[in-house]
Amino acid sequence: MENIAQNMAALRRRIGEASQKAGRDPESVRLIAVSKFKTESDVRVALGAGQRVFGENRVQEAKEKFKVLRADYPDLELHLIGPLQTNKVDDAVRLFDVIETLDRPKLAEALAQAIKKLGRAPRLYVQVNIGTEPQKAGVAVADLKSFLLFCREVCGLTISGLMCIPPQAEDPESYFKQMKLLADQQALPHLSMGMSSDFEKAIACGATHVRVGTALFGERV
Ligand SMILES: *Cc1c(COP(=O)(O)O)cnc(C)c1O
Repeated sequence: MENIAQNMAALRRRIGEASQKAGRDPESVRLIAVSKFKTESDVRVALGAGQRVFGENRVQEAKEKFKVLRADYPDLELHLIGPLQTNKVDDAVRLFDVIETLDRPKLAEALAQAIKKLGRAPRLYVQVNIGTEPQKAGVAVADLKSFLLFCREVCGLTISGLMCIPPQAEDPESYFKQMKLLADQQALPHLSMGMSSDFEKAIACGATHVRVGTALFGERV
């Protein structure tokens, strides 16, 4: 049995220490509790320990899990951190406060339409394929500037951050540093990077949001 409350306390301490070491205000780093594959009652334990920001990678799963939780906790903040298909855009815009995985023009157009139609505007981050991996989602670094221009000028979207998942088998530090540079160049205030195994490094490199699942909720089955 995973002790989520205890894990939460340990995580907060580690985030505080990493922030301090980097000369940053711990308040400038948000923990996104990644609850994919975990149950509503796991999420409730985290909520009981004061956690309010959660990340899910599937629209349907999040919709079911957070239906009641949303009503019980009006200050809950939900991030979509997995790929978004255009046919799920309406649901995603209704449900999420932040969509971190905007990664192609078709999706930008669909999001702009849904936001206009539904009158609800989640914050949007652009996912960057920082390791230039052919199988991975995300905008290529070389295309980022023009993609942001397309989102803003053509679709009328406001983009507030960048997100990445660096290559798995490599030291992520140089990728994190590149991401920070890109975010600064584009004047984007939010930077979502770092998971259970590397969030301290991500904080050192300037992450404003770290996405932690396993270190909080235990292994996923
Ligand atoms: C699952 C997932 C995480 C959390 O990973 P852990 O290693 O369990 O902390 C973070 N980001 C994304 C995009 C994920 O899909």
